Amino acid sequence: MKLKDIYSLNRENAEKSFPVISFEVFPPKDDGYESLDTELEILNKYNPALISVTSTSTATNVQQKKIVQNIHDKLKLTVMPHLTCVRNSKQDVASYLDVLKKSDIDCVLALRGDQPIDGTKACTDFCYASDLTDFIKANSDLSVGVAGYPEGHLECKSILEDINNLKKKIQAGGEVIYTQLFFDNDKFFKYCELLSNAGVEAPVVAGIMPVVSYAQISRMISLAKISVPEYLGKKIEKYKDDKISMRDFGIEFATRQCQALIDFGVRGLHFYTLDKAYSTSCILENIL
Ligand code: FAD
Repeated sequence: MKLKDIYSLNRENAEKSFPVISFEVFPPKDDGYESLDTELEILNKYNPALISVTSTSTATNVQQKKIVQNIHDKLKLTVMPHLTCVRNSKQDVASYLDVLKKSDIDCVLALRGDQPIDGTKACTDFCYASDLTDFIKANSDLSVGVAGYPEGHLECKSILEDINNLKKKIQAGGEVIYTQLFFDNDKFFKYCELLSNAGVEAPVVAGIMPVVSYAQISRMISLAKISVPEYLGKKIEKYKDDKISMRDFGIEFATRQCQALIDFGVRGLHFYTLDKAYSTSCILENIL
């Protein structure tokens, strides 16, 4: 199914519509396919409209293709592989589009990808996600999702400049905006307002990551602009060495966060599952 159809179907009766539920999984590092299959089985009980599969390099694309095909063939779900400018030439992308066409895949998430920390140049043919979106739209019938940053992208000087750059992705054919994870709903509400003021009409899907460990949160915050509300910060410190309490608090926090987003009328909730379905399934039990 195409993204536009997925996100407009639940708007047919706007007053009562519930957000579209989707999940993000990533290819296991070694031979963790069995556990990913189990995770997917658990997540599938919640009738996701879509599952996206991350990409870190062309090497993992082999694993990514396997997972994408599995979700499409066995679970019969709409699947959205992530595709990056980083480490992918025009030729790589063209042959990947061919694979997706043959596999009957409808959607792709077009991203620039993170630049290597050693400063080496990893983008060759595509500088920005808008260039990649342009190429995908010119060479396939795929439906394209793009990334958005409620607190601005790390490399961009201002959120308004970042929104201007986001508009280029929409103009190139991006249909739905999947946001970076965030913990402060007010930042998301403000972002939606800024997008609306900028004339962006594409559905904005909220990225939700349940807190599962101190290391996970510290890593995320170091990589991107993500505010941690005072209350959350205190609890994270409190449960630093208590995994179970941290996980349970993460479920409670994300449940309240999702409930407030539903009340706001968010178009979709996209869960970064970290291939750990337990927290996500508890949150869904609470909100559905
Ligand atoms: P872009 O939209 O290209 O933007 C990158 C930066 O350049 C921004 O600061 C933007 O403001 C600026 N910019 C854009 N266009 C222009 C222009 N024309 N002129 C000047 N400046 C410009 N990374 C992975 O490696 N693999 C994944 O699977 C993955 N999945 C993700 C999923 C989601 C939902 C999100 C939100 C992020 C994901 N990322 C992933 C991370 C993403 O690759 C990084 O955040 C990356 O740094 C930016 O990607 P982008 O597509 O937003 O880039």
